[in-house]
Amino acid sequence: MPQTLSQIKSLLTAHGLRPKHRLGQNFLHDHNQMSKILAAAELTPGERVLEVGAGTGALSEQLLDRGAELVAVEIDADLEPILRHVLAPYGNRAQLIVGDVLANKHALNPQIFERLGDQPFKLVANLPYQIASPLLMNLLIDHPQMTLAVVMVQREVADRLTAGPGGKDYGPLGVMAQAMCHVERIATLPPSCFWPRPQVNSAVVRLRRRDEPLTDDPHQLARALRRLFAHRRKQLGTVLGRQTPLPEGVDPRARPETLSVEQIIALARQLG
Ligand code: SAM
Repeated sequence: MPQTLSQIKSLLTAHGLRPKHRLGQNFLHDHNQMSKILAAAELTPGERVLEVGAGTGALSEQLLDRGAELVAVEIDADLEPILRHVLAPYGNRAQLIVGDVLANKHALNPQIFERLGDQPFKLVANLPYQIASPLLMNLLIDHPQMTLAVVMVQREVADRLTAGPGGKDYGPLGVMAQAMCHVERIATLPPSCFWPRPQVNSAVVRLRRRDEPLTDDPHQLARALRRLFAHRRKQLGTVLGRQTPLPEGVDPRARPETLSVEQIIALARQLG
């Protein structure tokens, strides 16, 4: 049985702690929603799992009970004694990194790959909202060993991950995610599933890496996305210059936000 709300509260109180808003500490206490995350992760015993933002270890324990080889990352050193205690029974199957998951905006903490090695892994996490987007971008572009991700994110981030062309949510994160993965929304959650309640709704999204990603050069795609979406409402001809040759079927008067993922990839190839 996962940690209950009163257990989470007493774990913190016993250590003289309170949830830290600036670190996105909204603890998931709804067991139905926790089960949805676990089911969506389709774990088999012995699989490597990266959990970012382990908190009091509620999700970590459940992942370990399903046989995961877990690398859990938590930035808040105040939570370390709680986590060490929760993870101890699992021995070497549970490894804890106390630190920031990001080394900088474009790179992950190198300790993570010292622990995970080059093996395939899944990301399963109730993500701190502030870093969801740079973390996912980085994993999508630079870490093909991540085969599947099941992540709790702000609903707005879920909308961006799943958006199609034309709307305000469509942009670099969604295009990159959809180029590299099959993306599905698994659940939408109200603030009442968390303590303390966040001000926004949340959603669980699954990203399953494609056997054949739509681009073999995600860095090239990332460069093109930065260029195109810096001026999403301007016409392509204006953004890129009238001389730039466009792929067949792409109108220079079109706005970047109306292009399909495939068209953006074709354009990225042309831009080099
Ligand atoms: N896993 C717990 C759960 O499901 O209830 C807690 C999730 S809470 C939304 C996010 C956690 O991420 C917090 O414990 C927070 O301290 C941690 N965190 C925030 N920023 C982080 C970062 N840059 N690197 C690693 N952990 C971070």
